[in-house]
Amino acid sequence: MISGEDFARAKSQALDKIRISGLVLSPAEQDRLEVLDFGLGDVMREGLEVVHYLSSRRMDIKVCVLFGGQTVPEHLHPPYNGQEGKEETLRVLSGSLQLYVPGDGTSGEPEVPPGKADFYTLRKEIVLRAGQQYTIAPNTWHWFQGGEGGAVFLAHYSKADDSFNLWKDPAVAGPVGEVE
Ligand code: ZN
Repeated sequence: MISGEDFARAKSQALDKIRISGLVLSPAEQDRLEVLDFGLGDVMREGLEVVHYLSSRRMDIKVCVLFGGQTVPEHLHPPYNGQEGKEETLRVLSGSLQLYVPGDGTSGEPEVPPGKADFYTLRKEIVLRAGQQYTIAPNTWHWFQGGEGGAVFLAHYSKADDSFNLWKDPAVAGPVGEVE
């Protein structure tokens, strides 16, 4: 559980970062910012701040904040019910984002949350900075982390039922269905 104090602090710091990035949110959107800890109870290590600002029949767009070192756990958007699964494009507005995908080649050992090495298997690192984006194909494992100083980024998705998402860490629980 996130304590009320941690939640309020993360929310206000995330809104500051979004403001500084230049993205303008309405007061109602700012109110809707969610602080997610994936049910893991250590939000500054494994967590995400997110405002879901478009949800249409065909797509979803969210603005996300990761603080420095804050991590979204390794996961997969599989095919289901004859559908391909979710395609995901991340585009950085400010700061830097480290994305980990299958394949060889890395610029260094990523900082995996302590005791969680089994649940973070990918080491191919893609660093995205302001104005850069990367598309993760459906059915591809991935995880990502805020670089030093954190990141504000847009996440664009084809519409998909997130209850089919698979997470490496079986402890991931709670209201994570709509996160990523
Ligand atoms: Zn994802």
